[in-house]
Amino acid sequence: MAVTRTFSIIKPDATRRNLTGGVTKMLEDAGLRIVASRRIRMSEDQAKSFYEVHKDRPFYGELVDFMTSGPVVVQVLEGEDAVKRNRDIMGATNPAEAEEGTIRKTYAESIEANSVHGSDSDENAAKEISFFFTEDEIVG
Ligand code: GDP
Repeated sequence: MAVTRTFSIIKPDATRRNLTGGVTKMLEDAGLRIVASRRIRMSEDQAKSFYEVHKDRPFYGELVDFMTSGPVVVQVLEGEDAVKRNRDIMGATNPAEAEEGTIRKTYAESIEANSVHGSDSDENAAKEISFFFTEDEIVG
């Protein structure tokens, strides 16, 4: 299996509850390496643009408000089959449906405040990584 990269965000509900370390430990325990990491406050423009794919969904405005409501930690993760590995440890979007042992089952508050974002394909991972990081900021 090839070593690949994916993009992750520790969302405001998790940073507010001081769970940056807890989430990061679960990612690392799942075999992913944090090869870039930065704590930022996302601007409204950044959040709108990042979630543009959801702009016609009813929750788009709330999602932008939520993602700009506090600090987030943007990260690049590296590992074997990183996109799938990260999606597996994240768990289902709705924590009520997430499996035991996943980040969202362990930490998420709601379908919106669900603690983590993770790219859903290699193509989107590349786009999302370049949205926040330059290649020289990623150190594997
Ligand atoms: P993900 O890939 O598992 O993060 O899920 P999606 O790409 O479908 O949704 C993006 C993000 O939008 C989710 O992680 C949630 O934060 C939020 N979201 C998804 N569905 C809902 C919803 O029904 N209501 C609200 N308020 N937010 C949602």
